[in-house]
Order: sequence, then C-alpha cells, then structure tokens
Amino acid sequence: MENRKVLKSGEFLVDEIQANDIFIPEEFDEEQKMIAQTIQDFLDTELYPNIDQIDSPDIKLMQRVLKKAGELGLMGISIPEEYGGFGQSFVTQMLAAETIGAGHSFSVAFMAHTGIGTLPIMYYGNEDQRQRYVTRLAVGDLIGAYCLTEPGAGSDANSGKTTATLSEDGQHYKLNGQKMWITNAGFADTQVVFAKIDKDRVLSAFIVEREYPGVVVNPDEHKMGIKGSSTAQIFYNDVKVPVGNLLGNRGEGFRIALSILHMGRIKLGANVLGASKKAITDSVKYANERKQFNVLISTFGAIKHKLAEQVIRTFALECAIYRLSKDIDDQIEVNKASGMDKGKASVEGISHYAVEAAILKVYGSEVLDFVIDEAVQIHGGMGYSAEMAVERGYRDSRINRIFEGTNEINRLLVVDTAMKRAMKGDFDLFGKAESLALNMGNIAVGKTDGESYFEEKLRYIKNFKNLILLVIQGASKQFDKKLIMEQEVLNNLADMIMEVYIAESLVLRVQKMENIKGVDPSGIYRAMVDIFIYDAGDKIRKPAADAVNSFSAPVFNGQYKQVIEILTTVEGINVKDARRKIADKLIEDNCYKF
Ligand SMILES: Cc1cc2nc3c(=O)[nH]c(=O)nc-3n(C[C@H](O)[C@H](O)[C@H](O)COP(=O)(O)OP(=O)(O)OC[C@H]3O[C@@H](n4cnc5c(N)ncnc54)[C@H](O)[C@@H]3O)c2cc1C
Repeated sequence: MENRKVLKSGEFLVDEIQANDIFIPEEFDEEQKMIAQTIQDFLDTELYPNIDQIDSPDIKLMQRVLKKAGELGLMGISIPEEYGGFGQSFVTQMLAAETIGAGHSFSVAFMAHTGIGTLPIMYYGNEDQRQRYVTRLAVGDLIGAYCLTEPGAGSDANSGKTTATLSEDGQHYKLNGQKMWITNAGFADTQVVFAKIDKDRVLSAFIVEREYPGVVVNPDEHKMGIKGSSTAQIFYNDVKVPVGNLLGNRGEGFRIALSILHMGRIKLGANVLGASKKAITDSVKYANERKQFNVLISTFGAIKHKLAEQVIRTFALECAIYRLSKDIDDQIEVNKASGMDKGKASVEGISHYAVEAAILKVYGSEVLDFVIDEAVQIHGGMGYSAEMAVERGYRDSRINRIFEGTNEINRLLVVDTAMKRAMKGDFDLFGKAESLALNMGNIAVGKTDGESYFEEKLRYIKNFKNLILLVIQGASKQFDKKLIMEQEVLNNLADMIMEVYIAESLVLRVQKMENIKGVDPSGIYRAMVDIFIYDAGDKIRKPAADAVNSFSAPVFNGQYKQVIEILTTVEGINVKDARRKIADKLIEDNCYKF
C-alpha cells in the first residue's frame, strides 16, 4: 500500500486530503483495462445484437446470456481464487460493474447474481457453504437471488414476517412466508432468504435451494423497464431448510442484509456511470446526424449545453467512484493484515464506507436519470420511439432510485451515519462545528496572495464544508435528539454533503491529472471544474437556506443569511464558453471519451 492519507467514512467533512492521495481512472493498469474490454466485447457480441429479444419477458434468453457470461469467467471477478474466481481488487470490480452497467436488463440480472445473490455466502458463509455454493455461483453453474423484501416489509426491511422454526430433531428449519420483488426469481437456483427464527425480534439468513419442496415462484411482474430481468414473488410453504444452511449466526441476518446493501449501493453507482456514458454516446451520435434548419442539431447552443452538462455530471461521478473504490481496497488490506478472513475483510472494508456508499447510490442514480432524460430530449420525437436505445434507457434508469434502499432512505443514511460515526469518535464533527458557530461572523476562508487555480477551488470547497458544519450545529442544537424526525432538514444536509464530496473528488482528480501529465492545453477538464464549482455554490446555498429557515429563530436569520451568502459565493465565469468547449470535444469524438 502506498503512503497516502486515507480518511475514515464521513471524515471528508472535517478534513482535507491532497490530490495525490486519491486514485483516479487514469491510473488503471493494463490488466484492469483488459478486463473492462473483455466485458465490453461481451456486450457488443452477445447482448446488443439481440437486445430486443433479451430485453423481453422471455427469461430463457436471459438465462442463456448469463450462462455464457459465467463460461467466460465474468462472474468470478469478485470471488477469491480458492473459490473458483479471480480475486480482483475492489477498483477492478467497480470497473467491471461500470462496463456491465450499460447492459440494460442484463446488468440488473448479472449484478443481482454476482453481488447480492453470491456475496452474502462468500462473505458470511462457512467453508462448507462456500465450497458447496460459491464455487458454482462463481462460474454461473448456479444463479443466485437475494430475498429480503416482503409485501409489508420494504424500506422497513427488519419488519418481515417470514419465519423459520427449528424442527424437534434439530436437523432443519421449517420456513414459511412470502418475499416479493425478487430479482432473478424466475430461474435462481439459490436464494439468500431472510427470516426470523422462532420468536426472535431480529432476522437470520438462510441459503435456500429452489428445488426444496414448498418453494413456489409466482409468474414475473410486468414492469416499467428492465423487462428482461426476472422479478417475481416467492412463497415458502413449510420449506425444510437443513440447519447447515443457516448463513452466519442466528440473529445476524439484518447485519448481513445491511452490509450487502452497502456493497450493492456502491456497485450501483458504478453501473449507472456505465449507463450514463452510453447514453451520452447515443446522444452525441444522434446530434451529429440529425439536421434541422439545414444544420446539424449538435451545432445549436441549447444542444451543446445539454451535452456538456451530461458530460460534467458523469465525469464528476466517476471521480468519486474510483476515489472511494481505492479507499475501500486499502481498508480491505488493513483488515486482512489484522488477520481477518478474506470474506470478512472485504465486507468490513466496504461497510466501513457506508456514508460514501449512500452518496454514490443517490448521486449516481440521479445523474443517470438526468443524463438519460436529456438524451431522450436530444432525440426529439425519436427519443419517444421504442426503436431507440435511449427510450429503453429512460425506462430502465428509473429503478435505480428505488432499489438498494430508496433514495429517500439513503439520503437519511448519509447524514445519520456520518453523525453516528462522529459521535463514536471516528472524527471530530461536533467540536469543529461548535467552534465555527462561536466564530460565525468570521468563518469564511479568504483568498490568499498568489493563490493557485486549485487552491482557489479547494478554498470554495472548504467554505462549503464549513457551511455544512454550521447547519449541522444549528440543527442539532435546535432539535437535539429529535433531529432524526426532521427529515426535510436531513435531506437539505444530505444534498449539501453529496455535492461537496463529488465536487472535491472532481477537483482532486483534475489536479492529479495535471500532476501526472502537466497542464492540459485544451482546458477542458478545468472547464468542468469551473462549471461544477460555480453550480455547486448555488446548489448548496438553497438547501442551506431551507434548513436554516426551518430551525433558526427570526432573530438569527439575518446573520445566517449573510454567512450562507459569503460561504457559497463563487467567482463568476463564462459558463457558456466553458460548456461549449466540453461539448465541442464530445461532438468531435462522436462518443464519450473523457
Ligand atoms: C425491479 C425491482 C427489483 C427488486 N429486486 C429486489 C431483490 O432482488 N431483492 C429484494 O429483497 N428486494 C428487491 N426489490 C425491492 C426493493 O428493494 C424495494 O422496492 C425498496 O426497498 C422499497 O421498498 P417498497 O417498495 O416496499 O417501498 P416503501 O418502503 O413502501 O416506500 C414507499 C415510499 O416511502 C418512502 N419511505 C419509506 N420509508 C421511509 C422513511 N422512513 N422515511 C422517508 N421515506 C420513507 C420510500 O422512500 C418510498 O418513496 C426490488 C424492487 C424492484 C421494483
């Protein structure tokens, strides 16, 4: 592990790192690029030529493509070699997830299998369970599913009613209940099912085989998008599950469920990145072919604005994704060095970054929704035609804000987890916030003489962070323990925190790119930084004001208003020219190549 500064989850709110402390995509090695290329070739040859058929409710086709992916070794990327996989780093897993992410329904089926369907057994299974199941899941010989949601237990996942009763001879559990919205249900051979043993108040987890008598899978749901991915209800009627198939310890189910969801959220961030890049390429290709008023529509400023904005948000998301991925890899190595088993080291490393996981999930899914919506718009009427990839992308995108924890739940988690970690002593959030509040009139970090380009941008970010701390301090003081009930204020904070994490990741990446390659003469990457930070000022000002107006007594409003203004003011730039510069590169390349 190189000697670099690594922050704990959420610590970025109170501390700074240098550009050279983060990993950037420009540092992918040849093997990582080769893995991504293999997946891209798979999509180009096996998926896209037959996308209409595969993306249909005929689940046999999806099964065939999954099988092929397994034969090619694509399902073993996250699995250690001793269990039949390739034991790749978390960064590589994320690059693979990004590439797969452009695969519409296939992406959902594949990710459910390799992620939430397989990894609970890899991470929490005993040796016997790993040998029996993981070795076969890693090559696609078995397909997996994850069964947490029930008709009455969605966001409140711990409230499930499925029960498991130990038989008198102590040989098996009798499983009874109903799960719904289960991805891969139509063909999954193994299901990780969450249920409560006897009268337990907490969940346990079980590995259930589809062939066990009493497992009944309903026909597939009719969905808005991802139509080729099987989603169905599963009933468990007196299903006998051998005691050897209890996963982890009794009562450990909720912990397993949550830690797997952290992993799922981060990987969803990578999936939507891949889908965004594809939507941008589809957009620019169309804009470079379609003529109106005798010129290509890509020459219109209004279209350039859309194209540039698609690129900026996608590029910024990418910066945060790989920054976090490397932090996780390092944490996994620390865990291994402390003697943890490989599975535990991985899951603990991922769960450690719960704040950032929730950020990537929410921010990423909303970036894709923005990008694909603009992609449809750039296509005009054709964007509404089922013949076009962007129409499919538009429908497929919407699910990302709902599963792996809705964006409402994840916004709450961003703030709640950061505050809990701070209270636990991981970093000094409240002490710092308190001292800023005492010095409220004088907390803006001022411009220094001879300030460099990046120092200026990082100064703005420092001011945004100070504002977040100030709002946390004010809200905590006003609402005390009841802050958890004030979801609107927590949402305001989550929006500010997400914007800052992404902005900082973008600035540090571009700075590191320049450290490696020298200043980019085209100025395209600096243009992205300029626009992002300029917009971030506005995007942070509004939720800060909303939050403060929701808790501060009128007597303080004037003071807060002034501080918010000072801390979010960013020097004006020519955003039109900056966006045109970015759009012009995209238009010239005729595909996303940043
Ligand atoms: C296509 C698809 C595939 C899926 N795949 C799987 C799978 O493989 N395995 C699995 O177990 N599940 C799966 N799910 C289920 C998915 O995870 C749930 O739909 C999701 O967690 C939301 O639960 P819910 O649908 O019951 O919505 P609800 O929990 O009823 O939420 C309804 C609304 O209320 C909001 N809300 C709920 N609680 C709160 C709160 N405390 N504060 C603020 N707002 C709140 C939500 O954000 C949402 O806007 C899938 C769902 C779909 C649609």
